[in-house]
Amino acid sequence: MPKHIISGLKYLAAVELRKKGYAQRVIAEKLGMDRSTISHYLNGRNISWNSIQIAEVVRNLCPRDFFTLTYALVKDKETTRTIVQICSIRKYECDVKNSCIACGICADVCFMGAIVLEDLKAQIDSNWCCGCLLCGEQCPTNSIEIKEVENNGNNRTY
Ligand code: SF4
Ligand code: SF4
Repeated sequence: MPKHIISGLKYLAAVELRKKGYAQRVIAEKLGMDRSTISHYLNGRNISWNSIQIAEVVRNLCPRDFFTLTYALVKDKETTRTIVQICSIRKYECDVKNSCIACGICADVCFMGAIVLEDLKAQIDSNWCCGCLLCGEQCPTNSIEIKEVENNGNNRTY
């Protein structure tokens, strides 16, 4: 069953990338798959409807559960980050207040690798933020604000 869920998640990611206009070669590279499998997926072959439905349930979990479960299945951090970033149904605005003391804790706990320290302040790349809120919970100065600005959970079409 885990393999079917992984296939479903990669299918969802492939469809999202196709919507954004990526070529099959690029989609295959991003997802670590061969081109023929991607071609089959995008043409509705070699993928079961059940796998897609279960993957859809997984990506509709809360953000923390989404990446935790995906990582448990995929067992590869970079692939997990790619799938979560592409398939996330939500978008976020991220802000770091001037009270930041550049301790780096947030960057260490961010699974998505969305945070770097620059000019003695944390900077968050909202494109990579999955909204798990781990950074804000760990910040000793309460300097992080993560705001959900988009939720497409009910607007997906395939
Ligand atoms: S909420 Fe914070 S820890 Fe979670 S992905 Fe976004 S920046 Fe990283
Ligand atoms: S955990 Fe808080 S204080 Fe530390 S670098 Fe991140 S935002 Fe700044």
